Amino acid sequence: MPESLPEPAALNWPVIATILGVLVVACGFIFGLTQNVIMTLIGATSVGGSLLVGWFLGAEATKSAAEARILAEKDALFASASPETAQGSVLVRDAVRFARAAIEATPNPVLIVDSAGRLVGTNQASRDRFSIDAGQVRFSAVIRRPNLVDAVSEVFKTGETRTLSIESRVPVDRYERVSIAPFEADQERFVLLSIQDETEARMSERMRADFLANASHELRTPLAGIIGFIETLRGPARDDAVARDRFLEIMHLQADRMSRLISDLLSLSRIELNEHVAPTARSDFAAAVQEIVESLPPDKQKRIEFKAGDDPLWVIGDWDEIQQIAANLIDNALKYGGPQSDVRIILSAWLDRDSALKSAMREWDGASRLPLTSPEVDRDRLYCTLRVEDSGPGIARQHLPRLSERFYRVEETATGKSGTGLGLAIVKHIVNRHRGGLVVESEQGRGTAFSVYLPQPLELGPVRTMVEVQAG
Ligand code: ADP
Repeated sequence: MPESLPEPAALNWPVIATILGVLVVACGFIFGLTQNVIMTLIGATSVGGSLLVGWFLGAEATKSAAEARILAEKDALFASASPETAQGSVLVRDAVRFARAAIEATPNPVLIVDSAGRLVGTNQASRDRFSIDAGQVRFSAVIRRPNLVDAVSEVFKTGETRTLSIESRVPVDRYERVSIAPFEADQERFVLLSIQDETEARMSERMRADFLANASHELRTPLAGIIGFIETLRGPARDDAVARDRFLEIMHLQADRMSRLISDLLSLSRIELNEHVAPTARSDFAAAVQEIVESLPPDKQKRIEFKAGDDPLWVIGDWDEIQQIAANLIDNALKYGGPQSDVRIILSAWLDRDSALKSAMREWDGASRLPLTSPEVDRDRLYCTLRVEDSGPGIARQHLPRLSERFYRVEETATGKSGTGLGLAIVKHIVNRHRGGLVVESEQGRGTAFSVYLPQPLELGPVRTMVEVQAG
């Protein structure tokens, strides 16, 4: 089929010009190969029933004739009928259109590479997944994975289909399976890569295993306590009314703890499962925090210093999840700060990454500070920072790196206070999913501050670059 298409050089333009007088139809379409190559195929039918399939490639001036030819060949690849008849030419055109539309609409990223390592075909999913720039033509520059580049070379050599699993850790865990299949066109070999995202399946498998391990380990202690008290109440304490009340009270506390553990573990699993999918919704961070503060009992509200401004502070975030961040940090500040400690909530907006970090760590003299998670560097991003400060006992420096680990509780501050050790882990995973950052700053005797900064939607930003809603 591709051979039957006349080469551009073979076109006899004077003859074509004559025939063009009786041509009535011309059609063109854009082929999104490497995003910046425009190919126009003009198919024409003559009034007398004679056929001329004229075509030429309108590649950008920067594209060589050889590259343009490759693109033409790609076009012909999908043709399933001979272009030598009128019907055949229409079929070719329709088949090409059909194949392109099908590949473009495929939800999995698809890439086509030629034997020189040039990326000659992409679809929308692959352009989104790899942020392929217009003009980017080297496959190895788009996917910088030596094992994948090697596998593609191998498929070119052997002509045999291969599949490969790839894992990435940054910015979040991602598991993908790549199928690499060769195909021939016009005596040249090409390779088609189709990428299947397996993150959700892999994560849910891991979550299930983690959940079972954590749940059974953490629930065992309170459950054993409850069983022990039941046995005592049925035996030696059967007629002891005072002991019964006391034991029932302890059993109630243990049952409460078990129920909190299960609900925290479920939240954590749910968030981890979605962590590789960044949210796209816009939420007003100030309103979300305000609502959490207003939902607290009045005696706790009195200890909180927070005043939201009139303007919304938009973040790219899921409303329920950003509320959970605020709820967990405020709850910790109230709980671990102690009854005498006031809690200050400070929101700052439209900050670049460095300024967001600075605003998160206000640099108390003598304080230790540590980022617990940070987003990838993106110079164009602006962030909104939420800082929750208490004036409690503070946390010793050596504990900071372990905060946000599942079930990690600092003995000095946690003793005697209820908690599951999952609150900060939940905050960290939500922040990761939102491609934001989490920072702790603490000074013994002075207090602790946890700060979160989340990306903001630039299209909703104010003209000025920084808004301090409430300077603490
Ligand atoms: P939980 O509060 O359920 O124990 P978290 O993950 O929220 O779990 O917190 C982990 C540990 O970090 C707490 O047990 C506590 O020891 C310490 N911590 C958290 N916030 C503060 C704070 N504001 N001040 C002092 N210690 C804190």
